[in-house]
Amino acid sequence: MRNEKGSLIRPDALPESASRPVVTPLSPSVVYASDTPDMLDQQYEGHLHGYTYAREGHPNADVVARRIDRLENAPNPGVMTASGMAAVAAVLLGLTQSGDHVIGGNQLYGRSLRMMQEDLPRLGIATSMVDPGDVAAMRAAIRLDTRMVLIEAVSNPTLQVADVEGLASLCKEAGILLVVDNTFTTPRAFRPFDWGADVVIHSLTKLLAGHSDVMLGYVAARDRALNDRLRVFTVTAGMNPSPFDCWLAERGMLSFDLRFDRAQATAVHLAAHLGGLPGVRRVIYPGRNDHPDHTRAAHLLGGQFCNMVSFELAGGRAAANAFTRAAAGLSFAPTLGDVGTTLSHPASSSHRALTARQREALGMSEGFFRVSVGLEDPGALCAIFAEAVAAASQS
Ligand SMILES: *Cc1c(COP(=O)(O)O)cnc(C)c1O
Repeated sequence: MRNEKGSLIRPDALPESASRPVVTPLSPSVVYASDTPDMLDQQYEGHLHGYTYAREGHPNADVVARRIDRLENAPNPGVMTASGMAAVAAVLLGLTQSGDHVIGGNQLYGRSLRMMQEDLPRLGIATSMVDPGDVAAMRAAIRLDTRMVLIEAVSNPTLQVADVEGLASLCKEAGILLVVDNTFTTPRAFRPFDWGADVVIHSLTKLLAGHSDVMLGYVAARDRALNDRLRVFTVTAGMNPSPFDCWLAERGMLSFDLRFDRAQATAVHLAAHLGGLPGVRRVIYPGRNDHPDHTRAAHLLGGQFCNMVSFELAGGRAAANAFTRAAAGLSFAPTLGDVGTTLSHPASSSHRALTARQREALGMSEGFFRVSVGLEDPGALCAIFAEAVAAASQS
């Protein structure tokens, strides 16, 4: 960058160094200066690669996106967004038009469900919610104006496994898009593009970044034109991520494989431990033989059953209160994929808008908890659960 000698208005060039930094530099610059109008022309025409304005892209976003592209086997370079919901919104709003119909899994992430049920209809886009484990029901729901099906491979919080293979061939046959939000499963366990998905979404806020200190999203499409459309829409709508958040996410992702493997191994252990505690009515973990979708999970996830475990305490709200009070070493907080174990109680949080009867029908009583297993020592974690379950039983 040219700089008048002595000017204090613009920074000087970085000192030269024959050696390189081993960590990605942070580039907070909003604008990038080109030498001439000709050069800018060439950048806009795509003959020269160069950044122009950070809403349109910046190095820290690209570094993270390329990393996820590799993990996901993405056919096109994916796009970073400021949150997972921005990625969901980019797909639901950027790839549809009024008069379309969109089908969603019936146990989507709460905000995705809300966008499907409250925002899309307002814009003239009809929606239906269908069990993604039931291909026949999905087939029956497809209409002439159906544009896409949005699912999560493993549902939250009851950990049901979608028939992704059946849905992929159904969507292909019907000529509609299969969109998979892969936040829960992560590419360590599942790569939707390899199974026929057309669009993949991530909230990096959860396992990929993994430290509960950054919100980010990612989206990529198999079709080049749709991928371009997602990029343009996210830029126009201002869904761009901050360079610092991307920098933090990149740092978090360096340990993603290790964190995932450790948390998953502990989840297997905890699921077995919970199953043996008096006071626990049932344990839901796709890796267990007694899980209703165990065979499908083993097939789709290739033995990676992830870090999420749900269980049901005997007893009602009083038992649930006694449990979280006694488990004070764990965060009772509505997130997942953090380095620390977190507990969520759907009846008082994500599913509080439902009636008790509706929740019972979904298998979520007052004693139902979802556990996002973190990186604690497995023995110490099991001891906390044993104590807290005992406290709940005595309440
Ligand atoms: C958290 C989450 C989202 C939303 O991501 P944010 O980064 O919180 O906006 C979307 N889908 C799933 C499955 C999630 O768990």
